Amino acid sequence: MRSRLRTHFLRPLRRTLGRVTDRPAAQQPDWPDAAVVAEVVSELRTLPPLVFAGECDALKERLGAVARGEAFLLQGGDCAETFAASTADGIRNTIKTLLQMAVVLTYGARVPVVKVGRIAGQFAKPRSSGMETRDGVSLPSYRGDAVNGFDFTPESRIPDPRRLLRVYNTSAATLNLVRAFTQGGLADLRQVHAWNQGFVRGNGAHQRYEAMARDIDRALAFMHACGVDPEAFRTVDFYSSHEALLLDYERALTRTDSRTGLPYDTSAHLVWVGERTRDLDGAHIEFAAGISNPVAVKLGPTTTPDEALALIERLNPLREPGRLTFVSRMGSTKVRDALPALVDKVTASGALVGWVCDPMHGNTFEAPDGRKTRRFDDVIDEVLGFFEVHRALGTHPGGLHMELTGDDVTECLGGSGGIGESDLPIRYQTACDPRLNHQQSLELAFLVAEMLASRSDQEPRNVVDGPR
Ligand code: PEP
Ligand code: MN
Repeated sequence: MRSRLRTHFLRPLRRTLGRVTDRPAAQQPDWPDAAVVAEVVSELRTLPPLVFAGECDALKERLGAVARGEAFLLQGGDCAETFAASTADGIRNTIKTLLQMAVVLTYGARVPVVKVGRIAGQFAKPRSSGMETRDGVSLPSYRGDAVNGFDFTPESRIPDPRRLLRVYNTSAATLNLVRAFTQGGLADLRQVHAWNQGFVRGNGAHQRYEAMARDIDRALAFMHACGVDPEAFRTVDFYSSHEALLLDYERALTRTDSRTGLPYDTSAHLVWVGERTRDLDGAHIEFAAGISNPVAVKLGPTTTPDEALALIERLNPLREPGRLTFVSRMGSTKVRDALPALVDKVTASGALVGWVCDPMHGNTFEAPDGRKTRRFDDVIDEVLGFFEVHRALGTHPGGLHMELTGDDVTECLGGSGGIGESDLPIRYQTACDPRLNHQQSLELAFLVAEMLASRSDQEPRNVVDGPR
């Protein structure tokens, strides 16, 4: 297997490492000065990796379990991280929220949960329009802190490649804290009550969480009394991910693994290719094909089964389990029509992929005041539709891909907190798309745990023996 892998990767290696490509790259910034880009890239190339190839392999193995129907992926975090919001409190609240959601899913549905943050690198955004117009003034769109500033002024919107060095440094500091939180005590299951502290309280999801935490405490005390106290209760394996959008940055962080001789993008454990850049002949898919990390691709409602099969061929020709995850983002009104043909054809081909639901990006609309928002009910409905499709086909609904924050923001409508359109301005803090707040995230986790538990007596047709 290793030598086949090496042969497979040798040819595209030079392109992956960034020396040449003839493929068109969508959504790249208009850097004003190529010489500065070259300087930044050569500095990035000298910096240490942010993650290690062995960790990427461990995640790939776990995602293999997701694809086989033996585990569930929880992937979540900001739409766009910013330098200013990468604070200890913000990072801790996101981690605590994901840990709470994971424990609700694990306890409620009794499935292992693979935890992946949209964190420590999610600083670049694709935009549907290159320009933004306000009151008759047009300026280049904000493309994430990796590229330009959020302020609507001509100076701030000029792309500055030096920002890529700050992306690297902020990602390193964030990962350092994530590792400390998840390995150094915060993630200890005996802290399950503490994860609920510091959040706005008093609603149904918090009370339910407290009740569940008491049950877990009792179970842990029982096991302790029996002499069982495994290490797995004390630490959590938590992985980083972001959209591989800025190829200058991703290529500069792609390194040859000394153990295997294979290239890994060491900017994150998992990277994904977005809906706007998943062109089969484009530079992003070429890049993803050349690295050995686990990769994901977003699939919107126009995706055809043939495109899905071609993506599998390009990105996972050796059919490694866990190498490729498909993140469907259809919208609540389309998921039941658009997803079945994709899942059915892919399953029939004999290929094993993880199927994950992003119930955020197909459900965005503009509120009357111009802010982008999403309805909690639409988010739930897309997840329900995703589960229904998999139930009908006998396949495994493998996970959730969420935009969320641990903070008490007012960006998405509804949930038991009853956020209405007039509440949006109160704490609308996202730099890009609207996120579920802490309460809404917990509520969603309880609902999804019920959906997962109710299908667990079924036999999934997640693996077929060969082409049918
Ligand atoms: C995103 O994940 O923030 C995003 C832009 O998603 P998509 O590529 O699915 O539109
Ligand atoms: Mn987004």
